[in-house]
Amino acid sequence: MASQRPRSQQLDILVQLHLLIAQSLPLLPTLYHLRQTNHYFHTLLPPPTHTELLAAETSPFAIAHNLYACRYCLRLRPGHTFADRMLRHGRGRYGRKQGNRFCLECGVKPREGGSEARYALGDLADNLDVFELDVSVQTEEKVDESDSLKVSIEIS
Ligand SMILES: [Zn+2]
Repeated sequence: MASQRPRSQQLDILVQLHLLIAQSLPLLPTLYHLRQTNHYFHTLLPPPTHTELLAAETSPFAIAHNLYACRYCLRLRPGHTFADRMLRHGRGRYGRKQGNRFCLECGVKPREGGSEARYALGDLADNLDVFELDVSVQTEEKVDESDSLKVSIEIS
């Protein structure tokens, strides 16, 4: 049986129904993932606020998946996308300055208004603790009295 309502009115009802359902969903993981499903839900559902993201990062889902909120891109991102110092001390998950945390991607982007990025290239290497290390391992044939193998490591 065809509906008596005009098609535009049917679509309005559908949109209202989706919004009502979305209001009853938890932000993590359901609503957050629903918003990323397709363009329709991405435009229909309002983006989470920074405050909502900070609250969501203390949920069991966020803790299990090591997710943290970024203040600039307003996304929950894995811990490895942040500089180490952004996840320590006051900027940690329960820290007083957790609202100041931003991801590496946002850190290397130029700031609004065209001013320099928050991180320079050298800062990025320092933040990531990236360094090159040549390691050679040599074993000695002699076994000591405790039957443990002696290994010497030379770092150059
Ligand atoms: Zn970010």
